[in-house]
Amino acid sequence: MNRDYKLLTPGPLTTTRTVKEEMLFDHCTWDDDYKAITQKIRADLLELAHCNPSEYTTVLMQGSGTFGVESVLTSVIGADEKVLLCTNGAYGDRQVKICEHAGIDYVQYAEPYDRIPDAAHVAEILDNDPSITHVSMIHSETTSGLLNDIESVARVAKAHDCTFIVDAMSSFGGVDIPVADWGIDFLVSSANKCIQGVPGFSFIICNTARLEASRGKARSLSLDLWDQWNTLEKDGGKWRYTSPTHVVLAFNRALDEMKAEGGIPARSARYATNNRMLIARMKALGFGTFLKEHQGP
Ligand SMILES: *Cc1c(COP(=O)(O)O)cnc(C)c1O
Repeated sequence: MNRDYKLLTPGPLTTTRTVKEEMLFDHCTWDDDYKAITQKIRADLLELAHCNPSEYTTVLMQGSGTFGVESVLTSVIGADEKVLLCTNGAYGDRQVKICEHAGIDYVQYAEPYDRIPDAAHVAEILDNDPSITHVSMIHSETTSGLLNDIESVARVAKAHDCTFIVDAMSSFGGVDIPVADWGIDFLVSSANKCIQGVPGFSFIICNTARLEASRGKARSLSLDLWDQWNTLEKDGGKWRYTSPTHVVLAFNRALDEMKAEGGIPARSARYATNNRMLIARMKALGFGTFLKEHQGP
């Protein structure tokens, strides 16, 4: 078997040898020095999200990205609340599935896979249905590589006093997102995408007040967002249940390597260059892009 190839998937992706080497160390999940790493990661992520620790907090959650999305949807939308799901790809459709499974009240606003949800239409839906309390959408729809306009939808959600949830799985770290300025309340991403770590956990940037208000709403024990946060806070970085220690060490290294590269601006520029190069050279081979506009890096 040829093991010398590069992964061109959005994640898991080819990581550096040094990120992988971090995993040679066996850490205990409750040791103070390990908990300090967890706390550093939480602080680093808030900084990358342009969030102030007095208003925002980071929760780390075991599992792949979907576990993080499911954790948020099933933890912050109460039994008497309702979410508007704006979809234009497979990951938006997955949110519909999560709501179906958990019995969460939802309405879906679906656009075709090459079109972006329109903020004016979102406003119309919210005007006509005051029972909607949450709005959720995908930032980079990995299905097509489309980058949605979350800023304008966030503005509409805020104007209607709705909690705004974003799946930024394949954009966070690769595209700069001013989470606080745009009024995003819950943003989900994972270890194995643009931060370039290995798979094993997701992370959620949370508006602390909205997170606190969700206490007691969770439908799942292990995916209870508030409870996970509460343990991280009161036990100084301890995860509720066994954490993926090797993956966390690798992620910590990946964050340091990202800083050394020049942070999100440098990474974003590199991805954009790769994207342009790929499109140009594939075009020379006779391939076209599926998207005519809104192409993400
Ligand atoms: C990768 C990804 C997810 C998570 O998928 P997993 O299969 O759980 O890793 C969710 N949303 C988007 C947009 C993604 O790209």
